[in-house]
Amino acid sequence: MKTFAFRHAASVDDALAAGAAPGAKYLAGGTNLLDLMKGGVEEPDSLVDLRRLGLTTIAPTAGGGVFIDAGVTNSAIANHPLIRTRYPVLSHAILSGATTQLRNMATAGGNLLQRTRCPYFMQTTFTSCNKRDPGSGCAARHGFHREHAIFGASDHCVAIHPSDMAVALAILDATVHVQSPQGRRSIPLDGFFALPGSTPDVDNVLLPGELILGIELPPSDFADHSWYLKVRDRHSYAFALVSVAAGLHVTDGVITAAALALGAVAATPWRLHAAEQSLIGRPPGEEAFHGAAAVAMDGAQPLTQNAFKVDLGRHSVVRALTLAAGVRA
Ligand code: SF4
Repeated sequence: MKTFAFRHAASVDDALAAGAAPGAKYLAGGTNLLDLMKGGVEEPDSLVDLRRLGLTTIAPTAGGGVFIDAGVTNSAIANHPLIRTRYPVLSHAILSGATTQLRNMATAGGNLLQRTRCPYFMQTTFTSCNKRDPGSGCAARHGFHREHAIFGASDHCVAIHPSDMAVALAILDATVHVQSPQGRRSIPLDGFFALPGSTPDVDNVLLPGELILGIELPPSDFADHSWYLKVRDRHSYAFALVSVAAGLHVTDGVITAAALALGAVAATPWRLHAAEQSLIGRPPGEEAFHGAAAVAMDGAQPLTQNAFKVDLGRHSVVRALTLAAGVRA
């Protein structure tokens, strides 16, 4: 492993100053970054440890939502009473990911910044990966791509984002609060991640040295009817083949609000706006859910090994909506 400098940041300003140095990386739980460093995928000149900043609170906001500090662990988010009661889909999504030990270390900010698990990206013995080494090619396109993207990919990269948490955040219309030496700004989650295009090495819209302070959740209509469905090769400690976050608001037997997003199908959580609209004004049930699933996969462009994700996604949408509504399948 390449030698690097290490320092504890004492304050946000201290972190931003250190994070502005060329080759600096922020460190929180380290559950992804340290693995990538050990494999030579990431080679920072310095690590700026954020764990003494005190960004570890989950608190209600004046607007009726909740603010999650970037340094809160995944376990703390999933088990917090405010999250479990107001945003159970977020708790459910987080608990479906990784292991207890990893969730005890991984943080909210780090979860958003985790990098793809494409094997060609993770192992430097593979020489063609535009995300790791821009311009080197994409080994996955003509190699192993069973787990790769069916939406939003490009000739340069077909990787997916691995987060479960981010898929739930997508249907909750979360906002990411960030800070740089130029000041604070907030980024809607649906604009936070970047599709690969011709620059797959860029995962998100953060500026160099910009620091995630936290994630804001607005009030949600979906506390009573939501679900996170994760389909994977084995029941635990595996990334999704397809996942679905579903939220419904039902008034007098009719769906009055709906939100749906797919995970593990694109480099971003993939929101299904047309499918959501198809549900509005309909009673929750098989007919409405199959109608939503029929349009959910419009525009999918599978590769030779992952065409199964189209059917799997369609069936998973029906299943997630059924479980969210609490109606019999
Ligand atoms: Fe690299 Fe993306 Fe191709 Fe995987 S899919 S090899 S991450 S460029």
